[in-house]
Amino acid sequence: KGKYPLLFCTSHKNAVGEDDILGGDEVKAQVIEFNLIKFKLLDEDIYLVAATLRPETLFGVTNVWVNPEADYVLVKVDGEKWIISEKAAFKLSYQDRKIEIVEKFKGEKLIGRKVYSPLDNRELLVLPAPFVDPNNASGIVYSVPAHAPYDWAALVDLKRNPEEAEKYGISASEIEAIQPISIIEIAGYSEYPAKDACEKHEVESQTDYEKLDRATEEIYKAEFYNGVLKDNCGEFAGYRISDVKDKVIEEFRSRGFLDVMYEVTALKKPVICRCGGEVIAAILPDQWFIDYSNERWKQLARECLANMAIIPEFHRRLFEYTIEWLRERPCARKRGIGTKLPFDPEWIIESLSDSTIYMAFYTVIHQIKRHRIKADQLTESFWDYVLLGKGDREKVSKETGIPPKTLDKLRLHFEYWYPVDLRHTAPPHITNHLTFFIFHHAAIFDEDKWPRAISINAIVSGREGRKMSKSYGNIIPLADVSRKYSTDLYRLYISSDADIKTEMDWREARVAATAKNLQRFWETAIKIIELPNGKGRVNRIIDKWLTSKLNTKIKNATEHIENFEIRSAIFKTLNESLEEIEKYFSYIEATRSSPNARLLKRYIETVTRMLAPVIPHVCEELWHRMGHKRTIVKAKWPSPDESRINVELEKAFDQVENLISDVDEIIKVTGKKFKKLYVYVAAEWKYKLLNAISRIYEEEGSLNPRILMPRLMKDEQFRRYGKQVSKIISEICKRGELWKYCGRDLEYKILKMLRSYIAKRLQLEKVYVVYEEKARYDPKGKAAQSMPGRAALYLE
Ligand SMILES: [Zn+2]
Repeated sequence: KGKYPLLFCTSHKNAVGEDDILGGDEVKAQVIEFNLIKFKLLDEDIYLVAATLRPETLFGVTNVWVNPEADYVLVKVDGEKWIISEKAAFKLSYQDRKIEIVEKFKGEKLIGRKVYSPLDNRELLVLPAPFVDPNNASGIVYSVPAHAPYDWAALVDLKRNPEEAEKYGISASEIEAIQPISIIEIAGYSEYPAKDACEKHEVESQTDYEKLDRATEEIYKAEFYNGVLKDNCGEFAGYRISDVKDKVIEEFRSRGFLDVMYEVTALKKPVICRCGGEVIAAILPDQWFIDYSNERWKQLARECLANMAIIPEFHRRLFEYTIEWLRERPCARKRGIGTKLPFDPEWIIESLSDSTIYMAFYTVIHQIKRHRIKADQLTESFWDYVLLGKGDREKVSKETGIPPKTLDKLRLHFEYWYPVDLRHTAPPHITNHLTFFIFHHAAIFDEDKWPRAISINAIVSGREGRKMSKSYGNIIPLADVSRKYSTDLYRLYISSDADIKTEMDWREARVAATAKNLQRFWETAIKIIELPNGKGRVNRIIDKWLTSKLNTKIKNATEHIENFEIRSAIFKTLNESLEEIEKYFSYIEATRSSPNARLLKRYIETVTRMLAPVIPHVCEELWHRMGHKRTIVKAKWPSPDESRINVELEKAFDQVENLISDVDEIIKVTGKKFKKLYVYVAAEWKYKLLNAISRIYEEEGSLNPRILMPRLMKDEQFRRYGKQVSKIISEICKRGELWKYCGRDLEYKILKMLRSYIAKRLQLEKVYVVYEEKARYDPKGKAAQSMPGRAALYLE
């Protein structure tokens, strides 16, 4: 409990968290500390109070800026007379200050007056500057034209238009007399870095806000890290600013002219509360905080995070950063919904500060309900016993009136479920909820109950290329989704159109394509379910291929699911399955055999089980049509039978498809009509050669003709084909890898078996498959070009 600055809504008079701010986490509202420098007016006991983030620049002050149009006030602040903007006085009244307004006036009244520089009592002019924002900090700034781009630009403006000052009785010569004072030495910049930055960013005037903001940020960073204070900076001369800044503040404070004020920074200002009120920085008396700055606690959080999986891994850095950066966080408010603060029931815990270990509650709430345990029985010792295993069972039972057996049951349920295996949510929660989740688990539980993993899903952020936003009216209310698209289609679309790393753009055309796919899956499944268990001749090799494909699919999809590659898993289970089934029927038809209904049914049943998490309703319906009585929810995820995976066979079938697309390409390019295709399967020695190359590649780890050639030429069977071998090697080395091929006889067998399938796909009359050495008809001498896995082709 204490006094710390926090975000505060001036309308509903409460501390606000990210959840209360319009625009939420994305606004990145934060409280920052400004230094206030008090400049005493000549001959009066009144201070003009200027705000700065760079108090060390006070050594280079040349004048003070005030916005002539803005509203200012003379106020008594804790008994001292200050001049600040009216807005600043309002804000300070929330920052544990006693504020008493004496007089209100426009800024112009101050212009032309003089103040003392607090460091050396030089007399400084108060000058007009439209860039000064009365809504930011004190609404008054002091000018350091050598090092602050805004000040440089404002001074140039005024020298260019001296009549702006003459209006207030200030002569042009007085303005001309103002010279920048260089106080920071920095490599790569001239005496006046602000001038350099203004020129670089092509600043035209003090109202070029965007350019000036960029120039300011650049100079601020450069000078902070690399700037060294010059001899005119008293005891701080020769020091780097980053090393000495805190000491400067301490010194100025002890000399009585430095004070502080808190202000809100954000990507978008003003920061507005969801109630419509403006959010400012406030210091409330007796505010409750959670002190995340505690080093021992931070260390536990670091350890917890280090042992967790973060998916995708690249988010880990933001977690690490947030753990370091979190300090005292206001955790309670006087209004709103939430849990009462146990130490002070007048306060209610703010929602994000409260959402830390509620997953533990999920593990037992059903039992609490079942045993009709009342809220007032859920005492601290009850939770200590159930969640931490602490305390004496009989004692807790006596205190709460809950039977010991029931207490043990609850404890058992908690032990069964905990730790949290995975917390899945969206990126904006990293810097608050998820980091609190880590902190609090690490603080409360033993290490074996610390969470294991967090996965973070990028969101659906756009629609048809435009950002999705309530204000554009292009959001899709979740309630409309099931009516307009159906739940399964929606689920399938959002999980297959992008992976969890990438933000998604909602596109109706792609939704429609997904719907088509879903429809195709339904129809294919129904067709297979209704297939009679026929007795026709079953083609063993095609069945073996489909069986192999199915088991490969289970293996790959399982790996994808375990790695959170949901999109790839769906591609394997849905898109590829549809293709495989279609091919299977074509192969069966081309070989004049019958489909193996039992195999197909097993195939579609397995795929249905794998798709059930994504499209549960469609799969549940299919499941029952398959004759199952229980829900698919209870069906197990399939496991692959690796002994049924036949990589060679899959390659042989892939070669057929590759061959078809190659020939298709040739037909398209030539534009001719062909009737016959001759396919030449390579000679035996070429398979041996590729096998030998593959072995050498494995040994050497690279493909180098200077290593390959001499080694292969030692072998009599390759020496005979020296020239051809050299050509093959140079081609492989150029590719940098070997292509896929299977055994020669298998290649021949599958090509020959599917020759009428190939003919049909390519609209040819006849396809001949022959071995290279047996090629009697080879008018263009193509057969010699054949390679393993890449049969030579001749069309006529
Ligand atoms: Zn509010």
